[in-house]
Amino acid sequence: MRIGALEGGGTKMVCAVGDETGRIEEQISIPTTTPDETIPPMMEYFRARNIEALGIAMFGPVDVVEGSANYGKILNTPKLAWQGCDVLRAFRDALRVPIGLDTDVNGSCLGEVTYGAAKGLDCVVYYTIGTGVGAGIFAGGKLLHGMLHPEAGHILLRVSKKDPSGSVCPFHPNCFEGLCSGPSIEKRWGKKAVELKDRPEVWELESDYIAQALVSVIMLLSPQRIILGGGVMHQEQLFPMIRKKVHRLINGYLQTPELEDMDSYIVPASLCDNQGIMGALRLGELAVRKAR
Ligand code: ADP
Ligand code: ZN
Repeated sequence: MRIGALEGGGTKMVCAVGDETGRIEEQISIPTTTPDETIPPMMEYFRARNIEALGIAMFGPVDVVEGSANYGKILNTPKLAWQGCDVLRAFRDALRVPIGLDTDVNGSCLGEVTYGAAKGLDCVVYYTIGTGVGAGIFAGGKLLHGMLHPEAGHILLRVSKKDPSGSVCPFHPNCFEGLCSGPSIEKRWGKKAVELKDRPEVWELESDYIAQALVSVIMLLSPQRIILGGGVMHQEQLFPMIRKKVHRLINGYLQTPELEDMDSYIVPASLCDNQGIMGALRLGELAVRKAR
């Protein structure tokens, strides 16, 4: 099947064509400016490629709850031009094929569950730690939505006494995103995260916070595996530090085969930064199955 996939981010929109095996045939990237400028070239791209379905993995907050009044609309975002934009309707009207929609992070989670590091599992958390922090959650064999969708980048943490700056989140003085995103590292240490590789104190603090967040998520959802993606997680030295700290914080309370094999429990994203677009292919495929 020829499937279109769209991964919508704050800086760029990735549009691709592929199939249900996760193979990407071709892809382009269009800068995210305003809906008026950004949507028409995406339409043109997909229209010219004769797709049978489209999967959209979109930055949030976006209403992904089928049947709700705002289903398919981008909600209260700081990207003001996109507020209220009915993305789903725009593509539906133009393409007239089944469309599956979810958040960008749920898309990445689905990509990893279908084709990558979490294949075959039915309770998985995918965190991206990049410009923002967000989580996609696959639970009971499907992507979790609830009243809107999880906002697990804003779970609250205990601020470290060693933290010289604190949170960059305008809403929370102590949330995961505010304390751990790329911009928060940059504000705290005065340099871009990628330039701080040789400063151990940076990654000590970062891994302290990430471990705190993961322990909350482990206690709440009991995931079978946690995948960590996003730009900041390209700092591979974080993985052993996080695993050790998670183990320490759980403090023997939980004893499962998964937690005994931490190296396979907390893992990097496995699809070469294609997890989002591959997840979008799967969203398209699932939309076709549903429509049949
Ligand atoms: P986005 O979140 O915008 O989709 P990324 O996941 O690439 O994109 O995240 C970008 C953030 O990650 C920036 O704040 C950047 O400083 C940080 N970042 C990107 N690459 C690295 C790296 N190799 N090491 C540490 N931080 C990085
Ligand atoms: Zn916050």
